[in-house]
Amino acid sequence: MDKSSNGGRMANSALCCRVAVPRPVYQTFTYALAEEIRDRAAPGMRVRVPFGRGETIGCIDAVAVDPPPGGARMVSELIDKAPVLSPRLLEICRWTAQYYVAPLGLVFRAALPPGLLADASEDAADAGPVRQVLRLVRHLPTLEEREALFGRAYRQREALEALEELGGASTIVDLEAQGFSRAVLGGLVERGVAMVTEERLQRDPFAGMDALPEPSLRPTRDQVRAIDLLDALLERPDPGVALLRGVTGSGKTLVYIRIIESALASGRGAILLVPEISLTPQTVQRFRSAFGDAVAVLHSGLSGGERRDAWQALRDGRKRIAIGARSAVFAPVDPLGVVILDEEHEGSYKQSETPRYHARAVAAVRCRREGALCLLGSATPSLESWENAHSGRYTLVELPQRVTSHPLPAVHLVDLRAPRDREASGPTSGGPALSPPLRQAVERCLERSEQCILLLNRRGFATFVQCEHCGKVWSCKHCNVSLTFHRRRRALICHHCGFSEPPPVQCDECEVRIAYSGIGTEQVEQRLGEVFPAARIARMDLDTTTTKWSHFRILERMRRREVDILLGTQMIAKGLDFPAVTLVGVINADVGLSLPDFRASERTFQLLSQVAGRAGRGTEPGEVIVQTARPSHFALLAAVDHDYAGFASRELEDRREPGYPPHRRLANVVVSGRSETRVTDLSAELADWTRGLISSRSLDGVETLGPAPCPIDRLRGRWRWHFLLKSNDPRPLGSVLRFLAVHRGQPSGDLRIEIDRDPESLL
Ligand code: ADP
Ligand code: ZN
Repeated sequence: MDKSSNGGRMANSALCCRVAVPRPVYQTFTYALAEEIRDRAAPGMRVRVPFGRGETIGCIDAVAVDPPPGGARMVSELIDKAPVLSPRLLEICRWTAQYYVAPLGLVFRAALPPGLLADASEDAADAGPVRQVLRLVRHLPTLEEREALFGRAYRQREALEALEELGGASTIVDLEAQGFSRAVLGGLVERGVAMVTEERLQRDPFAGMDALPEPSLRPTRDQVRAIDLLDALLERPDPGVALLRGVTGSGKTLVYIRIIESALASGRGAILLVPEISLTPQTVQRFRSAFGDAVAVLHSGLSGGERRDAWQALRDGRKRIAIGARSAVFAPVDPLGVVILDEEHEGSYKQSETPRYHARAVAAVRCRREGALCLLGSATPSLESWENAHSGRYTLVELPQRVTSHPLPAVHLVDLRAPRDREASGPTSGGPALSPPLRQAVERCLERSEQCILLLNRRGFATFVQCEHCGKVWSCKHCNVSLTFHRRRRALICHHCGFSEPPPVQCDECEVRIAYSGIGTEQVEQRLGEVFPAARIARMDLDTTTTKWSHFRILERMRRREVDILLGTQMIAKGLDFPAVTLVGVINADVGLSLPDFRASERTFQLLSQVAGRAGRGTEPGEVIVQTARPSHFALLAAVDHDYAGFASRELEDRREPGYPPHRRLANVVVSGRSETRVTDLSAELADWTRGLISSRSLDGVETLGPAPCPIDRLRGRWRWHFLLKSNDPRPLGSVLRFLAVHRGQPSGDLRIEIDRDPESLL
């Protein structure tokens, strides 16, 4: 297995160590330790080692190993005085590498703060904290006013719209990045609609936020019951996993805070995982209020140096609570009392590249080994966790009611197929943006000066561009997906690889007009501006949140009630707690429902329940309007009734026959490459090889399905085929995958094999 041997430089008697390098290779490498460092070297320390023709930084996995027969090269430098990974963290990394069949060095890299296992420094120099910001100072509600003011200065008008889209303020740098020149931006100032200010932008908004004292809430009876139950678990030597299912607004956060308090009181620390830090500033803020300086927030918005500082503070025990996304499950908290996953059903807990670990699985294993409690919270738990709660593997704790006296908001479906709802559709909309019931509800909401949230899980202006005559659809040159028209950027853009081209004027072959259909957030925003000219609208999707803190700024304006309508993709569905939001509208609930993926119904139900849960969290009751062309779909009907249990039992039944999780364990093996025939050949050969392996080693119960083209069969210029492995028992499945990785994991040329165990999606 050892490739590093070139003899020569090593004394025979030298002690060796095994090193994992952050490269996509399944083996570790043996190096010799020079006499001076031999006694100091320990697992978990970083070393610089010769690798191939160059050098790399790796992490020691084991010391005192035998030299390989051909001798070993020498470690060039022992970097650390103390291990960066403690024995406990090394152990959980090894489990992760083993279970997910991932290279150990890549797991070490994922577990460490950025830069510690990188060859080059990746810290981008932060531009100074004082920035020039362009702020809107005049509101132009009507189209006439806009035309009168801007005349033919179209670019300036677009800049104004871009600024509105960003919630009324943006740094000049960001606007320039969107293609607006200084001259155009200066035009806005000259016309008196905007002004330039110098603002000290917080590098880390959490650091700058006043730590509002957490109001000392008296827990409700349900909360007390949940806290008592969890406290009792925490005192046990093996607390196991608990699932806290609490409807939206049931006060799960207070339960989390109390459990962390208990962990601290017993001398242990805590990790709180959230799906995405930038989307949940309120949650983070509440923990900072409750625990002040004990909290280290690990998030990708920090520079590498800041993250390393936060990590070091946890490592030294100066801070006891880590808050972060997925990778914070590896935070160096020791001893560990509790790991909490908020919104445990979120797909973002699974990493979509190697190592493809799921933070929930890693947390459960880590907690078991360290005697800590693993607490999963959600209003709409994943079916995996729900099943585990019912089989008794997890402890189920429920918060069935909202904290406020109000019930969950009433949800109404609007059938988009009904002709009376069609009148509102525009020529390019491919379905109405706003049916009359939704439009009237928004109107009422604005009249009462309350806020509303509108969800459409599709960005851009039109998601489908087609010749009206020959039916040709504009699709990406590199991916087998259609291109989305972005009006502001005047381009057709691929949402998978970023490829863009100018929009066609007419079909090259038929010279016939082009039809734009499939409505995206950009178009809804335009329609809203026309229908509600006086409303302050903010759009939040990938296009308006390109810079570090843009999410945060938009949400902050929402909190200060400078926004009446918050429109966005799924980004706006999570965890937000704005008491003045009384209306939630879903522009098209069917977007995710037709995806060829076994989780499509589950994702749709979760998204609808989550976004519906944003309504009526304050003193006023909430209302939810869901537009759909499939009003009889059970996922939608269950969302109307807030019937999680009903949804789960129907969906579990539907998954039984095809053997999808949680009934059976799944692994997806994807073969990709630039040549279609080589990809199909290799995937067929590997599937056969795997079948042969299973029968020759009698790894019974592992079933191989396929190969078949992936639902997206070309991505970034690479063809993709896959085959599936299913098994009732995770152990033989793991064995098959490890055999496959070690023997066939590195095919020649540009062909690649990716193994995705417990996949979140099969696209
Ligand atoms: P969830 O996460 O379950 O959706 P939150 O934890 O965000 O709910 O709580 C919803 C709202 O209820 C928050 O504004 C919170 O401050 C408030 N709240 C929670 N517990 C209590 C309580 N015991 N008394 C009063 N208000 C509470
Ligand atoms: Zn593409």
